[in-house]
Amino acid sequence: MRSRLLAWLLLFSAAASLAQTAATPRRPLPKQTVPVSGETAEASRLRGVYGPYRANNDLQSYKLHVRVDPVAQSIQGDNQIRFRMLASDRRIQIDLYPDLLVDKIVMDGQPLKYTREGGAVFIDFPGMLHAGDEYTIDFFYSGRPKPVGRFGGITFGKDPAGNPWIVTSCEDDGSSIWWPSKDQWRDEPDDGMEISVEAPTGLTDASNGKFVGETDLGDGYTRWDWAVHYPINSYDVSLNIGKYEHFSDPDSGKYSGVPVDFYALPADLEKARTQFAQAKGMLDAFQHYFGEYPFIKDGYKLIQVPYTGMEHQSAVTYGNHFTNGYYGRDWTGVGISPRFDFIIIHESGHEWFGNAVTARDVSDMWIHEGWDTYIESLYVEYQYGKADAIQYVNGFKSKVTNKSPIITEHNANQQPTEDQYFKGALFLNTLRSVIDDDKQWFKLIHDYYQQFKYKTIMTEDVVAFFNEHSGMNLTPEFNQYLRHTALPTLELRFDPAVGRVSYRWKVDEVEFSMPVKVGDPAHWQTVTPTVDWQVMPTAIPADQFQVATDLYYINVLKDVVKDVQKDASASVPSGAPKQ
Ligand SMILES: [Zn+2]
Repeated sequence: MRSRLLAWLLLFSAAASLAQTAATPRRPLPKQTVPVSGETAEASRLRGVYGPYRANNDLQSYKLHVRVDPVAQSIQGDNQIRFRMLASDRRIQIDLYPDLLVDKIVMDGQPLKYTREGGAVFIDFPGMLHAGDEYTIDFFYSGRPKPVGRFGGITFGKDPAGNPWIVTSCEDDGSSIWWPSKDQWRDEPDDGMEISVEAPTGLTDASNGKFVGETDLGDGYTRWDWAVHYPINSYDVSLNIGKYEHFSDPDSGKYSGVPVDFYALPADLEKARTQFAQAKGMLDAFQHYFGEYPFIKDGYKLIQVPYTGMEHQSAVTYGNHFTNGYYGRDWTGVGISPRFDFIIIHESGHEWFGNAVTARDVSDMWIHEGWDTYIESLYVEYQYGKADAIQYVNGFKSKVTNKSPIITEHNANQQPTEDQYFKGALFLNTLRSVIDDDKQWFKLIHDYYQQFKYKTIMTEDVVAFFNEHSGMNLTPEFNQYLRHTALPTLELRFDPAVGRVSYRWKVDEVEFSMPVKVGDPAHWQTVTPTVDWQVMPTAIPADQFQVATDLYYINVLKDVVKDVQKDASASVPSGAPKQ
C-alpha cells in the first residue's frame, strides 16, 4: 500500500515550511495496542488477535453481494461465508464495524444468535460444528459506513464532473469497515470469492477478479459480477464505482497471457491511455524476475481513484495524476524516479509481494512493503541496469529513521513504521551483497516467491528459506535489521604506524558476522567482521579507505590511533586477537 506512506512522502516532498508544519510524527509507535483509526483499543485488540473463534475455522469462500446507494451514502447486502471447522466448536468470530447494522445471520434458513463486541461479531450455533466439516452462513448487513483513516476506508465522493465516485481502501482500518469478513491477514478464502456490486445504472463497478457480467436490474440499478479465482486478503477486496470508461490494452494477452484492462474517467481517458502503457514494462520486469503474473485467471486491472493508490488484488487502484515519479516529483531525490510512474510500479509489484505472498500478521508487514519497495529497484535494474538500481535503492536512505524495529508485536494490530519500506528494501539490497553472486541471488528471490505464493507467512519462514537455500546462517542479519533498531556499525581503527586496520561489528546480535567489501573500490576486499576485533594489514590511509556502503546498508565509524606505539600489538584495541 501507499496509504499512510504516501501522505508521509507528501510531507517530504512538499515545501519545507509545509513539511515543518506537518512533520509531526504520523503516530507514535504504540507501546500497547492502540486503534489504527476510530476503533477503541479493545476493538483493535479483537481485530489484531487471532483468537480461538478465528483459529477454529478455515475460510473456503466468500460471496459478497452489496447494493451501494450514492445518495443515501449507504450500503446493504450480505456475505455468504463458507468455512471448514478446524476444531469442533459452537462459536466463530466474524468482524463488522459497530456503525453498521447486522440485519440477520442465517444458516440453512435458521437465524443464528450473535453477540457484538467492538468490531467483532461472535456467532453462536445451536449445535456443535464438527472439525473437518464445512458450513455456510449468510451474513446480512446494512448502514452508512463512516469514513475513517487516511483514505476513508469507503468514501462517497464525486468526480470533477460531478458524478458519484465511490471507492474503498481499507488496509489500515480493515475490511470490516464496509463488509462482514474475517478481518485479519492469516486466513484467506482458499477457493476465492465472488463479488456482486449493485450501483445506479450508468455507473460502472470495477472490483477484483475476472469480469463475469453486468445485469440491469430494472429498478435503476445494475449489478456488476466479478469472480476471484485465488485466495485474497480481505483488505484487498475493493469496489470502485464511477463513471468509468473501460479499455483493454491493445496487446492484452501478450504478457504470458495476462488480460490487461484499464478504467479511467472520461476526461482523463487519453492521459490514461498513455500513462497506463507503463503496465507492460512492469509486467515484463516482474515476470522476468519472479515468474508468471500470479492472478492470471483474474487478469490485471488499473483503476483510477481519487486517492494515491492501493494494491487491491488484480484491481490495482491508481491516483498518481498520470505523472511519473510521485505526483510528478523525484521523490527519492536521485534522478531515477521521474523515469516511471511510481504508483503503477509499486502498487502492481504488490501483486507478487503482498497479494500472492502475504504476511500472516501486520507485525511482519515488511514482507509486503520491504519486498515491494526493493523490487521497485529491480524494475529499474530491468529497464536501466544495475548501477541505476543501486543508485535508486540508496535514495531510500534519507527516509529511514532507525527509531524502532521493523517488526512489531504480533497479534496486536500494530502496523510497523515506514522503515519497513525503506530500511526493508535496503536490507534486501544488503542481503544481495552478502550472497555476492547475482545469479544465485536472482534464483533465491525467484524461488522464495514461488515457494510462498498464495500463502501467508511470517518472517521466520523467510529466514528459514534463505538459510536453507543459501547454505548460510543469515538469521543474525535478518534479526539485526528487522528486530533491532540500530543499523550495524562497522568500527574501523587504523594504525598507520604499523599499516594495519582493526575492524569489528557493533551490533545487537552477538552472532552477527556479515561480510563487507572494504578498501579500494577498484579492488574491493571482502572481510567478515564479527563482534570481536580482527586485524588486517592495509596500506590505504584512513581517509581513503572506503567501505561499499551502497551495497551494504551500514554505518561506518573510523578511528585512527594517533600515538605511535613501539609495541605494535599494543595499538590494537583491547579484545583484539593476539597475532
Ligand atoms: Zn506498498
